[in-house]
Amino acid sequence: MSLKSVHQIIDDCQAIFNDNSFSKARQWKDAVPGRKVIGYMPVYMPRELIHAAGMLPLGILGGGADMEVIHGDAYYQSYLCRIPRSTIELAITGKLDFVDGMVFPSICDVIRNLSGIWQLLFKDKYVRYFDLPQNFDDQIGGVFYVNELREFKQGLEKLAGREISDEHLHQSIALYNENRAWVNKVYDYRAATPWKAPAAEVYLLMRAGMVLPVEEHTDLLKSYLAAAEAENRPLRDNCRIVLIGTFCEQPPLNLLKSLEMAGCYIVDDDCMLVTRWLQQAVPTNGDPLDNLTKAFLHHSAETAAKYEVDLAVKGKYMLESIQKRQADGVIFAAPSFCDPALLDQPMMVDRLKERGIPYITMQYAENSGQMQPIREQAGTFAVSIKLWSAS
Ligand code: SF4
Repeated sequence: MSLKSVHQIIDDCQAIFNDNSFSKARQWKDAVPGRKVIGYMPVYMPRELIHAAGMLPLGILGGGADMEVIHGDAYYQSYLCRIPRSTIELAITGKLDFVDGMVFPSICDVIRNLSGIWQLLFKDKYVRYFDLPQNFDDQIGGVFYVNELREFKQGLEKLAGREISDEHLHQSIALYNENRAWVNKVYDYRAATPWKAPAAEVYLLMRAGMVLPVEEHTDLLKSYLAAAEAENRPLRDNCRIVLIGTFCEQPPLNLLKSLEMAGCYIVDDDCMLVTRWLQQAVPTNGDPLDNLTKAFLHHSAETAAKYEVDLAVKGKYMLESIQKRQADGVIFAAPSFCDPALLDQPMMVDRLKERGIPYITMQYAENSGQMQPIREQAGTFAVSIKLWSAS
């Protein structure tokens, strides 16, 4: 484990975040002949399978705030969310030329269509639309999903030119279990002492995990926790909020910074859910595909990104998060025209209204530049929370 200061660690993560050419992943690939990299889109991907095939899973989260989208606009309507357009831009401008395959997990029609566009544009690459079950019965959704995993595994084996053994899969599952445990420790640490682990830092740490090998990312999380604890930072008179709706297209980093500067500590969020989707450790014995299936069906985060059959249960995960993190309120921040986030929002709002929990809503794009209105809205929200809780 490194003994870097928190600033050195975050500077390294910021460099990874800024680098739209994914140099770290390119270096990993070039270090050993024959290595392969598989890109995946949000929201959930069983990265264990890619890792067990000896490949690097690379999270692709769009082009970010600074990428100019020129070609991407020819493929999608400009009023849609920006992530499909900037992801196409990344590919067409050669930023993903080293990636050997792309996987598109089912989250919405936009991503499904993107997988089709990819197949037309990059005929020589491995492309898979990864369908996730909407039914959580072992005998229905479970049977479907285990087959989906098996087909995905076979595709990776063909690409790797070797079999993925159960033993390799168990080892990869163990590494991702450990990574999830440390991710959760960082989230717990931030919730307990948000002034010591600012939201933008935690975000950059998790973003680094989209590019780095899992073992390296786990070490980074351990180093950050030690370094953050050693740092003296002032406690602000901020309220505590849960940020919801940021699971696919990512909010600009400045939006996260603006919320905290405006008086809102972010004590939970749904950014990069792939790092926390599975809520319990996956067993490392028995049939690994079966274990991953059961974990997905029965122990995954109940967010807008997962279909909830029972309306009475809808919102339970959010309410538990508010309680566990001792949050004062919720900020719903959805990408423009994001169906999964915006269709879920009215139901979540109802749950909050029933309990008198304050909330605000806002929309963003990954390249939103004007933060003044966000600061004003969040600042007013923070002040109103303080006034209400004081009465
Ligand atoms: S931001 Fe929302 S609408 Fe856009 S691709 Fe992601 S989930 Fe789909």
